[in-house]
Amino acid sequence: MDIADRFWAKVAKGPAPGDCWLWTGAVSDDGYGRFTLNQGGQTQAVRPHRFAFHLAYGVDLDGFGALMHDCDVPICVRATAGPDTHLWVGDARLNMLDRLAKNRDTNGSNFRWRGLARRHFAQQSRALRDEVRAHGWNREERVRAILAGADPDAPTLF
Ligand SMILES: [Zn+2]
Repeated sequence: MDIADRFWAKVAKGPAPGDCWLWTGAVSDDGYGRFTLNQGGQTQAVRPHRFAFHLAYGVDLDGFGALMHDCDVPICVRATAGPDTHLWVGDARLNMLDRLAKNRDTNGSNFRWRGLARRHFAQQSRALRDEVRAHGWNREERVRAILAGADPDAPTLF
């Protein structure tokens, strides 16, 4: 299997136009994903969101700086070369803020992960990964609850 095919086979894309594309593979203790490349007899672990960016732009994996998620979901790999991307290199995030200011963002900034402690970050990533690995987006309400930082098993308040 082509390496890009192997990569995308581990991604569950959300049904709505602005949804996250969620990594279903390994998740590291920092809450980010882990994708293992085997090329030329060498094994290398890379972050899936960086690999997605590399695929979208055709640039070397070490040829760009830190990426920012505008959805705050560390296992999201929605990197595209268009305005629907969730991943930006460093200062490009300023462009995203500008876009948000103009209210043209369709993603909705309802994610609540930013204030989470690191161990919760990893827990949250794994809960999300486990859900989409087992069910894809079929149980969409649960996926959206976890994305919003809620416990999908908690009773609703209304
Ligand atoms: Zn996303």
